[in-house]
Amino acid sequence: MKLIFGTSNRGKLREASDILGPDYQLVCPADMGITEDVEETGETLKANSILKAEHIFNIAHAACFADDTGLEVDALGGAPGVHSARYAGEGHDFAANRRKLLAAMKDVPEEQRTARFRCVVTLILEDGQKHFFDGVVEGRIATQEMGTMGFGYDAVFIPDAFPRYTMAELGEDLKNSISHRGMSLRLMADWLKENVK
Ligand code: IMP
Repeated sequence: MKLIFGTSNRGKLREASDILGPDYQLVCPADMGITEDVEETGETLKANSILKAEHIFNIAHAACFADDTGLEVDALGGAPGVHSARYAGEGHDFAANRRKLLAAMKDVPEEQRTARFRCVVTLILEDGQKHFFDGVVEGRIATQEMGTMGFGYDAVFIPDAFPRYTMAELGEDLKNSISHRGMSLRLMADWLKENVK
């Protein structure tokens, strides 16, 4: 089965290919000649993942999916959440976002540093039906950056599954085995195998 993944991130494409396996041929919008980006104007992760998937579907009229991710920090009332990419401004600057988060959490004690990555995947099948898959990884915010692998908030996020390391110290395989996106993609893969022959 051919599926379009609405992302320009080759790392995400590789991760999804690994999870879905050889029965699925994954292509990205650029491979289909789709170059324009969609504005993420939704108020929720689900709304943005729908916007991204619909953008592809309306052009290609083919089975496709898209994800949207946010980091929810309890001590900040769930921020940055849907605004995770632009937390420190429109520049989508990962390092500036991490610095702003650590500064906001400066006086927050250990037991109140709980947080989670949440990822919502929207799948649109050829007939236009939509299906949603949620992945969550629980953890806490570190007091300083640790590790150089990964991207985004990885260097300041300590997953509960590996409480001595940030995501940026785990390496790609270990991270993908517990990550929010890994979880929602695995749920989608299981659903597809069960329901779309
Ligand atoms: P997107 O929806 O995948 O574009 O993610 C929005 C923002 O969340 C990104 O700009 C990153 O800052 C952050 N993010 C998403 N996935 C991850 C991850 O796996 N690790 C760390 N940060 C992430």
